Amino acid sequence: MRMFEEPAAALRWVRGEDRPEASMSHKFLNGRVEVRTGDITGLPVDAVVNAANSTLLGGGGVDGAIHRRGGGEILRACQELRETCYPRGLPAGEAVLTTAGNLPARYVIHTVGPVWGRDQQPDTLLASCYKKSLALAANHSLGSVAFPAISTGAYGYPKDEAAAIASTAISEALARADAIEQVSLVFFSAADLDVFLANQQF
Ligand code: ADP
Repeated sequence: MRMFEEPAAALRWVRGEDRPEASMSHKFLNGRVEVRTGDITGLPVDAVVNAANSTLLGGGGVDGAIHRRGGGEILRACQELRETCYPRGLPAGEAVLTTAGNLPARYVIHTVGPVWGRDQQPDTLLASCYKKSLALAANHSLGSVAFPAISTGAYGYPKDEAAAIASTAISEALARADAIEQVSLVFFSAADLDVFLANQQF
């Protein structure tokens, strides 16, 4: 068993940050898509996509990390959207854009993935998250977008099926969005990256 002197070192290893072979980026669609490990909150892209919940008021996982690092400005923008446009919450499969607050990104796109075992037609909803996020980015002339693996954490979507759906949806969306130059798919662990690479349909 591998031993670590400090918990932080173990976490870095799990995420692939100390493993050059794991943190390598993999390219698809003539380099328009890169797939890699990392922490999405640190990326200086035009838009970081948040795997939000329908309240838009923050949660755990990547949602919590984005709100923590981005600060209160993101939460205030989300609260305003709730009050003005989505009093009953943002439906699954939809996407909205806010400031990125203190993140190095310019904007955050919040999309709500399907909950596995609860929502009907989860495949259509998951594809819609990727397509609507990219359509929103294109409408705002944003050239670089980074996605986490939507719905594959707390929402329980099987990672192999999610990989096939995400890659197909992104291919279709990019065929219609010339302005988007770079899509990054960012996995929190090397193991998740490997599952994606084995099941992607680019
Ligand atoms: P959902 O509720 O949509 O399942 P989660 O945030 O629980 O969303 O998980 C989605 C994915 O994001 C998981 O694979 C999780 O490991 C990953 N994740 C969590 N934090 C980060 C982060 N800071 N950067 C990138 N990916 C992350």
